Amino acid sequence: MPNGSDQVYLVAGSNSGNSQDYLKKAIFFIDKIKNTKILTTSSIYQSKSYGPIKQSDYLNQAIHIETKLTPHRLLDEVLSIENNLGRVRKERWGPRIIDIDIVFYGDEEISTPNLTIPHYDWKNRDFFIACLKEISCPFVEGNGLSLKSVKKLI
Ligand code: ATP
Ligand code: CA
Ligand code: CA
Repeated sequence: MPNGSDQVYLVAGSNSGNSQDYLKKAIFFIDKIKNTKILTTSSIYQSKSYGPIKQSDYLNQAIHIETKLTPHRLLDEVLSIENNLGRVRKERWGPRIIDIDIVFYGDEEISTPNLTIPHYDWKNRDFFIACLKEISCPFVEGNGLSLKSVKKLI
């Protein structure tokens, strides 16, 4: 990848349909985003659902990419991958076949109506920290959570 690219950490999640397959498909399409290259993917981690709505366990996987897209362009790309895989938005935090969050974009801090980076809640989510730690995301290293709520699946 030529100069001018940024290091970005995504976390994909699924708790509906064939979740492992949706994660695989998400990674396949992320790899097809122009001016973007996948550097590493983590193992898949399983955790109990988070938030107010009771639902099936989640599978999560971190993806380290290098991209020349701006943060907002990258957001458009990941949201369109979610749409193309058939995600339908009903209630917030409800079950979903695929969710792709941009957790870190280099060391940028962004606060706009449709994009907040770093992800506003990453510090509270063991399932983000566990998979990001595995792929040596520099921002989560040294974070002392117990990670008991998350188990490595494959
Ligand atoms: P949460 O944001 O709590 O993880 P969620 O992932 O279920 O919840 P979504 O319905 O997937 O929320 O996304 C709602 C909106 O969040 C998106 O349309 C997008 O504009 C916005 N958003 C803000 N910051 C980010 C980010 N860092 N990564 C992805 N989407 C973001
Ligand atoms: Ca999310
Ligand atoms: Ca999301």
